[in-house]
Amino acid sequence: MVPSPLGVLAAMPEEGQAIKRALVSAHTQLILGRPVVAGLLDGHQVLLAISGVGKVNAAISAAALKNAGAAGVVLVGVAGGLGPGVRVGDAVVATELIQHDVDITAFGRPPGYIDGVIAGGVCDPVLGDALAAAALAIGATVHRGCIASGDQFIASPSKSQQIAQQFGAIAVEMEGAAAAQACRQLGLPLAVLRWISDAADDQATTDFPAFLQQVADKDLAVVKELVAEQR
Ligand code: SAH
Repeated sequence: MVPSPLGVLAAMPEEGQAIKRALVSAHTQLILGRPVVAGLLDGHQVLLAISGVGKVNAAISAAALKNAGAAGVVLVGVAGGLGPGVRVGDAVVATELIQHDVDITAFGRPPGYIDGVIAGGVCDPVLGDALAAAALAIGATVHRGCIASGDQFIASPSKSQQIAQQFGAIAVEMEGAAAAQACRQLGLPLAVLRWISDAADDQATTDFPAFLQQVADKDLAVVKELVAEQR
């Protein structure tokens, strides 16, 4: 069951612009200082927030979507792939999310731990399954697993290996786990889908912008497929 109205969160305009253009009867509200576009996608109510890059932006826009009336949130966009099996163009749908840059290990806490929990959280299993099914339906190669988020663009094999090994992550980006933490506190179901734009290695700064041109249409296709499941 896909929540309605569905909140859609994307960090960058390049990721959300095709969805924005496709919304019918669209109007923009400023909520918590953030633009939230409300409109109809194939007749289904959608609320779109383009948050800006990074964890704080993602958390504030998740709260703005809640205030705008979203019943659940899907975060879409790009990420670096971790490990040889996760290739550029593949989709990763999170089962769980971790903030890899949260580190109070100096006090004997595990990596990623803060405030009594592992920062991030588990994705809503029903919405996650629906999102993965939508990606499969549009022909994507879909991986399920942990996505690691932090306020760092990862462009080094040693750093990406460390994140993969430490957290069992299969993709790395800069917003998902913050949105997960915010949505958990706001009582909103969340799912995250990332298209792999780069391998978080020393080619990442050239692979990432090259792939970014394709992502808007992919995000639109997957969200269209997802809302078609709404009842
Ligand atoms: N071009 C922007 C910065 C983009 S940062 C500027 O100049 O300001 C990268 C964005 O893509 C983030 O939103 C992040 O979620 C995602 N991303 C893609 N590949 C990534 C990687 N290897 N490491 C971290 N984030 C990545």
